[in-house]
Amino acid sequence: MKLLRENKIEVTYVEEPSEEELVKLVKGHHGLIVRSKPLVTKRVIDSADQLLVIARAGVGVDNIDVEAAKARGIEVITTPEATTQSVAELAVGLMLAVARKIAFSDRRMRAGEWVKKYAEGFELYGKVLGIIGAGRIGSAVARICKYGFNMQVVYYDVARNPKLEEELGAKFMPLEELLKVADVVSIHVPLTKDTYHLINEERLKRMKRAAILINTARGGVVDTNALIKALKEGWIAGAGLDVYEEEPLPPGHPLTTLDNVVLTPHIGASTHEAQARAGVQVAEKLIEFFKSKGLL
Ligand code: NAD
Repeated sequence: MKLLRENKIEVTYVEEPSEEELVKLVKGHHGLIVRSKPLVTKRVIDSADQLLVIARAGVGVDNIDVEAAKARGIEVITTPEATTQSVAELAVGLMLAVARKIAFSDRRMRAGEWVKKYAEGFELYGKVLGIIGAGRIGSAVARICKYGFNMQVVYYDVARNPKLEEELGAKFMPLEELLKVADVVSIHVPLTKDTYHLINEERLKRMKRAAILINTARGGVVDTNALIKALKEGWIAGAGLDVYEEEPLPPGHPLTTLDNVVLTPHIGASTHEAQARAGVQVAEKLIEFFKSKGLL
């Protein structure tokens, strides 16, 4: 808000407005900044009289009716770069938690058990990391794992990433091949109709029995029922998940009964740094947008 005001933008700040309030609020404003809330519905958008831009501090635009905005020529902008490092660090945290059975050990210690005998894990050092979707987050994970654990990076994407190949010696390969060779598979593709259930029963069966799967992208990329089968029947060794097909994950969900899975409640972007960065970047982008329209 400081940045906006310094640039002579008048700011109305309202915490968690209802749709009703937002319908009234949006009138007379040229820009609207939101986070993952509130819902910016068609009704809100259609009641705007001067709105030029909706800016989301963060990545997903699930709370914005983008089609309705488009139809009225209202631009939707996001700050996808702000959360990259935080999500990447969580993915690596989940790798370690699964590989070294950290969450399992912690759970048992609190129950008064000394499970040293059952908590033998494996090192990440020198293992093969398979990245599915080598964009911003996938590349950041690859870097941490290459420089931190000397992992060999292989990746699958719809497009080649020459920078990653050059910098890390990352090897591009078809998905089926990646699943066969990787010790750790980390998912970083967006959820689209092409990536829905990209990791299904057949593909989980292709993975090494000692391999682990990490998903910090979107729940729908993995077929949950197939994953539960894979974890129960030992097709893979374990999984680390931050995202789910249904969020919040319902209490008593089968995933919560398995010892070889580590679960976090969609906290990839939940760091002080990511949230602060998203706030500053969204203000900078809005200022830039207003300048490009001659409003500032
Ligand atoms: P990005 O756009 O930089 O990278 C995505 C990559 O996936 C691109 O390289 C793209 O070419 C590739 N891709 C797209 N469709 C594909 C397909 N069908 N097959 C193979 N590759 C495909 O995005 P990013 O910033 O790295 O974010 C990745 C995802 O992480 C986001 O879409 C979002 O769902 C998720 N995310 C999660 C959190 C969290 O809190 N856990 C936070 C931020 C982002």
